[in-house]
Amino acid sequence: MRHLFERIGDYMPHKEEIHLPSCYRKKSLYERMAREFRERGKSENDIICYDYFIRLWKIHLPEFIISKESEFVKCRDCTELEEMRAKATTDHGRQRVDSLLRAHLGKVEMERKRFHYNRERAEREPEEILTIIIDGMDQNKTNLPHLHKEDKSTSNLFRLRTHITGAIVHTGVTGGKVPFVYVDVNHIPHDSNLTMNVLLEILKEVEKHLARVLYLQLDNCFRENKKQISSVTYAVVVQLNIFEEVYVSFLPVGHTHENVDQMFSKFHLVYKYQMPTPWMT
Ligand SMILES: [Zn+2]
Repeated sequence: MRHLFERIGDYMPHKEEIHLPSCYRKKSLYERMAREFRERGKSENDIICYDYFIRLWKIHLPEFIISKESEFVKCRDCTELEEMRAKATTDHGRQRVDSLLRAHLGKVEMERKRFHYNRERAEREPEEILTIIIDGMDQNKTNLPHLHKEDKSTSNLFRLRTHITGAIVHTGVTGGKVPFVYVDVNHIPHDSNLTMNVLLEILKEVEKHLARVLYLQLDNCFRENKKQISSVTYAVVVQLNIFEEVYVSFLPVGHTHENVDQMFSKFHLVYKYQMPTPWMT
């Protein structure tokens, strides 16, 4: 169940929840899980019943929630299909839109599955592959000082623009992953320069875990990750024999929340409940 839910769910960066697509219902997720088991050759006796599925979900996987509405920017396809669904007047029409939405989400799932496969492979074969996911946290939440509650006298005060970049390195260490956090105060331009700086800092930190192949999972943002400087950096690390091959992957826009966002949700909790920064008072 967890594997299936992680493949189709979006990690929320501001709370400890993983949202499953709104086109699914609990019953349809159960049917999908049962179908996948059958396709893998499991017998009917090996497949749990629907009631037990619901009980396991409630007890062991409460962080997975079927979202009614996305709280973040959606991809254009999802938005159009959800509008079509809202306008559909018959069950047949709604079912047709749901099947189109599932087909679209199936493509997203394939991309996400590739990342999950590569991070599991990095844990199993650390000499062959090193998998790194890098993403930035919403800067509005990290500027300092951060106050638990704002009032008129504090809302217009100068804030030090502070930005957090998070990364998770998947390799053959205990637990299979190493989290990294980089804080900058806009002293590095927030474009490919920042991502490449963070990447090179990480590679220095994990130099004992370098592998033959580097697999990077980055945010699908042209400004940050698709500029010439990125390609040049990958070419240089290959030229210097740090890696033989470098692969870069991007999840589709609107479907980019991954395990690094789960890390941000923990920071968000700290920011939400912490007291005012001492030097503010
Ligand atoms: Zn979409």
